[in-house]
Amino acid sequence: MRQHDRPTSAPQDTHERERLDNVHPAGWRNPQPRDRYSLVVVGAGTAGLVAAHAAAALGASVALIERDLLGGDCLNVGCVPSKAILRTSRLYAEMRNAEHYGAQTPADLRVEFPAVMERMRGIRARISRADSVHRLSAAGVDVFFGQARFTGTDALTVDDSKLRFKKAMIATGARPDTPPIPGLVEAGYLTNENVFDLTELPRRLLVIGGGPLGCELAQAFRRLGAQTIIAQSWPLFLPREERDAAQLLSDAFARDGIEVRLNTNAVNVRVEDEQKLVDLVRDDDKSTVAVDAILTGTGRVPNVEGLNLEAAGVDYDTAVGIRVDDFLQTSNRRIYAAGDACLEHKFTHTADASARIVVQNALLLGRRRLSDLTIPWCTYTDPAIAHVGLYVREARERGIPVKTFTIPMHDVDRAIADDEETGFVKIHVKERTDRILGATIVARHAGEMINEITLAMVAGIGLRTLGRVIHAYPTQSEAIKKAADAYNRTRLTPTIRSLLRRWLAW
Ligand SMILES: Cc1cc2nc3c(=O)[nH]c(=O)nc-3n(C[C@H](O)[C@H](O)[C@H](O)COP(=O)(O)OP(=O)(O)OC[C@H]3O[C@@H](n4cnc5c(N)ncnc54)[C@H](O)[C@@H]3O)c2cc1C
Repeated sequence: MRQHDRPTSAPQDTHERERLDNVHPAGWRNPQPRDRYSLVVVGAGTAGLVAAHAAAALGASVALIERDLLGGDCLNVGCVPSKAILRTSRLYAEMRNAEHYGAQTPADLRVEFPAVMERMRGIRARISRADSVHRLSAAGVDVFFGQARFTGTDALTVDDSKLRFKKAMIATGARPDTPPIPGLVEAGYLTNENVFDLTELPRRLLVIGGGPLGCELAQAFRRLGAQTIIAQSWPLFLPREERDAAQLLSDAFARDGIEVRLNTNAVNVRVEDEQKLVDLVRDDDKSTVAVDAILTGTGRVPNVEGLNLEAAGVDYDTAVGIRVDDFLQTSNRRIYAAGDACLEHKFTHTADASARIVVQNALLLGRRRLSDLTIPWCTYTDPAIAHVGLYVREARERGIPVKTFTIPMHDVDRAIADDEETGFVKIHVKERTDRILGATIVARHAGEMINEITLAMVAGIGLRTLGRVIHAYPTQSEAIKKAADAYNRTRLTPTIRSLLRRWLAW
């Protein structure tokens, strides 16, 4: 079923009309298929769009198939709408905190939730222009709307059309996992697929799951005024991240007034008096919370069903997704995969990077490897938590000795001036070298700052050289320079120090 055919409570305003005109125009007629395409791409999220545009730019004949909305999750129900409402929610948090900045909180500070969502829809419509069918057609890509289904090792169907291909790429993405909680489905719940359709702020919200999605949206809704509880089964948020980073986030949530329930499982949901009663269990402790809405963020499952992958000879696993090798090739040598449908790291930038690998490997006889990528990521809470490379525990598991340089943000002038002192920059190097193994940044602008470390890692620039890079003053990125300075100070061995002392005395 097409997303825009679903019953939706989202207002069909000019923004929505613009978005749909870009990403699934009414009355679209699929083109007549060519004899055989150089590349057929299934799924037009980030991975599919990037591959289609790149292949068309090379002069390949390309067909792109989408069953729902061009732009996939990121544009329609993921990164773009979530970051738009996070920004407004941060503004409200700052307005409430105005006195801290020598300003005044407006006396009648009220959240106009419909206006927040309208802004989000406007941003989404604007960004949808880049993903539009019009842009694809202008680039020479044949766009087919409909469900793709393989009929053999080099062919598939979309509705009544049969498409033959030399190479194909599966980029069908992932969808929210539904936790098996009795009563949840009957009571109704929100996921990223419908939360951005809300027109009214739920007064009381339970977020189940403390991963990136749960954390970002819990903070956004809390700051927009919802009483928010997060329940999650692990002892801390963002289980992948370093503990001190996750702890800073826990503290920030407590300051925001989010009720944090760690080590807690939701075990039953029922509806009484138009409210949802959710039983929560922590060890032997059982409690019940009453809320108006439940948002789940408990993981994502790859979309592999309905493609008839057996006919194509493509191996897959319903939990892991399409099985690919390091060149992103599937068990059918003609067929590749990219993005959330096959990758462990489910991010827009990895969808993009993997699609580029596929285009080179499939069309240009490239041998580019997935394992060569250096992949950063960021959870855009406040403070944000960004990471790239190895964690200390991973380095130790591989027997690599690690030395870590940590600069707290409260030692950075710009962070002090901005009142954004929560967090740190932590850079891990291989002991006795300046080779950067990885970094974690907790800071308001961690997502921007991590790119400098990623660049250094990709270009083979060591921490020593980062110390020679002049950072504009005052910027929060100076924390990275300070970490490099701390590294450079360790190069002053006692011998060098004593030589220097003698030289200076002379
Ligand atoms: C709330 C939320 C916030 C996020 N925020 C961020 C963020 O800040 N940064 C970040 O990097 N990542 C973020 N992500 C993750 C990001 O959205 C995904 O990693 C990215 O969209 C993956 O792109 P993709 O092309 O692999 O898949 P998708 O975007 O899921 O696209 C797959 C497309 O394939 C189509 N499709 C599926 N099956 C078929 C079929 N059989 N035939 C035809 N079409 C089919 C689908 O309709 C879909 O349009 C977020 C995700 C969510 C849910």
